[in-house]
Amino acid sequence: MRDLRRVNRAAVLTRLFQEGPLNRAALVRLTGLSSGSITNVTAALLDEGLVVEAGQEDSDGGRPSTLLEVNPDFGVLIGVELGETRIRVDAFDLGMGVLGTADVSAHPQHHEAGQTLDQVVEAVDKLRRRLAREGRELLGVGMAVPGIVGYQDGQLRVHAPNIGWRDVALDPISKRLGLPLFADNGAKALGQAEMWLGAGRGTRHAVVVLWGTGVGAAIFTNGAVYRGATSSAGEWGHTAIVAGGKPCRCGASGCLEAYVGGRAILAEWYRTDPAATPLPDPDSEAWLDRFIEASGSNVLSAAALDSVAVSFGVGVANLANLFNPEKIVIGGWVGMKLAPVLLEKIRQTVERQALEYTASRVSIEVGHFGADAVALGASMLVVDELLSNGGALRPSTATRRRRSGVG
Ligand SMILES: [Zn+2]
Repeated sequence: MRDLRRVNRAAVLTRLFQEGPLNRAALVRLTGLSSGSITNVTAALLDEGLVVEAGQEDSDGGRPSTLLEVNPDFGVLIGVELGETRIRVDAFDLGMGVLGTADVSAHPQHHEAGQTLDQVVEAVDKLRRRLAREGRELLGVGMAVPGIVGYQDGQLRVHAPNIGWRDVALDPISKRLGLPLFADNGAKALGQAEMWLGAGRGTRHAVVVLWGTGVGAAIFTNGAVYRGATSSAGEWGHTAIVAGGKPCRCGASGCLEAYVGGRAILAEWYRTDPAATPLPDPDSEAWLDRFIEASGSNVLSAAALDSVAVSFGVGVANLANLFNPEKIVIGGWVGMKLAPVLLEKIRQTVERQALEYTASRVSIEVGHFGADAVALGASMLVVDELLSNGGALRPSTATRRRRSGVG
């Protein structure tokens, strides 16, 4: 009985979060629950403050009906983007509006995991104190990492060799914060944000690509992310596009990332164009704007940019042929800058390279979210847990085991 109640609450909350505001009649239609159940469930959710009224809607001939939505002010979600070259810690309300940002100066590649996590804890505490003054409370923390999140020996663990993390346990961080903590790979977190609220909304079969310093993909089949046997599916950046090609930092050669990853693009630009002007800080991301600008007037830069588009397009064609998605969404900090410039060239490459039937049925788009997309996606790990548990957060073994998909 308790389980059935939770399932019904989860169905109502999920519809309201993804499609709200909705009236009770729409909830009956969308959830398949009886109108009696909807009346009971919504009354309880209103009473607990998880759901609020959002105005009236005229119905044909009848009396106006009340619209309901998930209460944006029910609690605060923390999203942590642990990238290869930067860390973002953002606070969001349940309407996914930004409430604040806290700075973290530790560089993930130049600091020990312990030092980096200390700074993340400090940043979350700083946000907690600031938001407490507005009467807001934190619900939980979602963390996106540049690697694989698994579950071993009763502990949530991260394996991210690109930032020197080997088997780093996250449960102590959850304990220190006194908050439930959920974690996933950065591409999968970005994918969740784009699928629920962004460019992937309304599609069942899609691939969301994280194009940054590293390159990854979140593959959605029938609305759910595909994880594979040990949660590492979607390491698209390490699929080869050239047999025996450029060495990749993963140890293999010819990987897509060795041609289109942030560092690879920067190296190629410096190599091919003697007029390229190096910046003192390769992590600044500003070099990419300079590269795009240079390609407008310099043939060598233009050729380098062109080859990035073709290599990326070949990778995208592979995704189209393998997964037959309705949509491929491009995000990530490199993607947000380059995709708008290169989209036509990428589409042309896909048309040339993928099977005609598949290529003609996939739309390739730029993601909706900007620089905070991965942190937003990370915070949605908390939302996902909240909704699927019918409005409660349980940092229990069972929920995380289900999430990580690793026994
Ligand atoms: Zn590789």
